[in-house]
Amino acid sequence: MYKVAVIGGGLAGSEASYRLANEGIKVDLYEMRPKKLTPAHRTGKFSELVCSNSLGGREITTGAGLLKEEMRLLNSLILKIAEEHSVPAGGALAVDREKFSEDITKVLEEHENINVIREEITEIPKDYDFILIATGPLTSEKLSKEIQKLTGEEYLYFYDAIAPTVDAETVDYSKGFWGDRYNKGEGDYFNCVLTEEEYEKFYKELLKGKQVPLKDFERAVFFEGCLPIEEIARRGKQTLLFGPMKPVGLIDPKTGKQPYAVVQLRKENKEGTLLSLVGFQTKLKYPEQKRIFRLIPALKDATFVRLGSIHRNTFIQSHKVLKPTLQMKDFPNILFAGQITGVEGYVASASTGILAGINIARIIKGEEPLIFPKTTMLGALVNYITEPKKELQPMNPNFAILPDIKINGRKIKDKRKRKELKAKRALEDMKEFIEKNNL
Ligand SMILES: Cc1cc2nc3c(=O)[nH]c(=O)nc-3n(C[C@H](O)[C@H](O)[C@H](O)COP(=O)(O)OP(=O)(O)OC[C@H]3O[C@@H](n4cnc5c(N)ncnc54)[C@H](O)[C@@H]3O)c2cc1C
Repeated sequence: MYKVAVIGGGLAGSEASYRLANEGIKVDLYEMRPKKLTPAHRTGKFSELVCSNSLGGREITTGAGLLKEEMRLLNSLILKIAEEHSVPAGGALAVDREKFSEDITKVLEEHENINVIREEITEIPKDYDFILIATGPLTSEKLSKEIQKLTGEEYLYFYDAIAPTVDAETVDYSKGFWGDRYNKGEGDYFNCVLTEEEYEKFYKELLKGKQVPLKDFERAVFFEGCLPIEEIARRGKQTLLFGPMKPVGLIDPKTGKQPYAVVQLRKENKEGTLLSLVGFQTKLKYPEQKRIFRLIPALKDATFVRLGSIHRNTFIQSHKVLKPTLQMKDFPNILFAGQITGVEGYVASASTGILAGINIARIIKGEEPLIFPKTTMLGALVNYITEPKKELQPMNPNFAILPDIKINGRKIKDKRKRKELKAKRALEDMKEFIEKNNL
């Protein structure tokens, strides 16, 4: 009889335990709440939603919508209960949070194969055949130290300093140029150019931008190397021009001159479909980010696939530590799921819990663990966090991480149509994958 421990009864841990238990595998599910709360959780219930009660859009042409549809095909517990307790929310799936987590708790506590243990795990347990770590963005301090020992200190991060990311197809490339500072490199950066007048306008609006109030436990994350762009701006009108917007070493080939100010965009993935604004981590509210960053001429019509933020978030550098099966490269019997892997948000976290549950069950049954197709949103997300890169910053489900789609070798220009086709392909591929692997 195999012994499996799932650590953390959040969105990912709940899905994984449910999946394993339904496959007939006995699970010890460890959850430290309510004995010990995180700074954001308020109850002892499983899958507590710590902030918004929305699980994102329903339409399959949104990243969260498509991922939810795939999760439905994989018999997600979270989605089943969410539908039972949904509240009207336009195009989104929002839930009555109390009833939602109450019912998930009931299902898990009453499952004959799940043994709930209300305890903080402070050391990686030794007497299990498989361990799933799903302790989320607010993993307790003692366990974080243990995880650091497993992953190597440099591969566990304690905060996000996320700069906004745009869909590369929505950038106006006539308003800047490709090139590296002092021509050192392969021309990997796109430099969005601003004249003095454009900079002045941008600067004024940046100072006026409304910010998200900091939670007490988030105050500690600010330090010199990680200041929000608006805080740098408050130090004086010229400060940005010596910091993230400095033009020095960049010559615009159109004018032969150094621009007044520059915002550099850097490729976030191999395919170059995602570009992030270098050094633009921010605490501005989301609508304010869109309004203000679209004052950068090259980004006037940009689609933001992820907006900036700075908050506490415990997450590993999965591209160094994990295989796309969510097993550790060095210790294949230890798996990670949820936000701690570098995916972002309730739905993405839950989806990786399903994948981890499936893979542990398969290994126990003597089958190969699975890598999901990159054309599905779940597969693309896990591929994104585990593929080689310099540094992993958390990622949410979005269409730019899905491989491109062509008809008769031709690119599809219409954005809506492209999304529809990618979504259709994702669901077809997921169905085929489920059938082929008997999931
Ligand atoms: C302040 C805040 C606001 C957020 N707002 C949103 C939002 O509006 N929308 C959104 O989609 N996402 C939001 N998120 C992110 C969201 O909370 C996560 O994506 C999601 O909860 C992650 O699921 P998870 O299962 O990985 O972790 P969690 O849901 O956090 O579950 C992890 C569980 O592990 C337990 N645990 C931790 N350490 C230990 C230990 N040592 N031993 C035993 N148990 C332990 C915790 O108590 C917790 O129950 C927010 C996060 C924070 C911190």
